[in-house]
Amino acid sequence: MSLEKYKQKRDFKETPEPEPAASSKGASRFVIQEHHASHLHYDFRLEMPEEAGSQTIVLKSWAVPKGIPKEINEKKLAVQVEDHPVDYIGFEGIIPEGSYGAGTVKIWDSGQYELLKRDNKVIEVILNGKKASGRYSLVKTRGYGGRNTWLLIKNAPKTGY
Ligand code: MN
Repeated sequence: MSLEKYKQKRDFKETPEPEPAASSKGASRFVIQEHHASHLHYDFRLEMPEEAGSQTIVLKSWAVPKGIPKEINEKKLAVQVEDHPVDYIGFEGIIPEGSYGAGTVKIWDSGQYELLKRDNKVIEVILNGKKASGRYSLVKTRGYGGRNTWLLIKNAPKTGY
């Protein structure tokens, strides 16, 4: 069900993006796509059940307008967007003019992640990417303008693992 929004926003005769398909398999991968749309942003996606305990695997997705935090304790706004199908994890290409999200999509980084915590307000992971590596948290904010806003935070490494 959660891919409905993904489907509604797109015309799959026009866009080269993957069609929505439910998946029951996931391997705890992440991707960060650099998306040269009307405004350059980064799309941060985590392969995980659509809700904790669900059998349906999707890419939980956030648009990060100002880039991925690099320094410990750096925070960047991350706006949660519609869940994307798992196949989107390898997507690169050009979304044509006139289509939703028109512009070029390139993979900026990808890899595996380890989930440390997930609830409605906090998702904490260790990313094992080339550019994004170490502990990161997504923390839900009170939001503004009706948007589902979070902060993406680069955390100090924790001892003990
Ligand atoms: Mn995007």
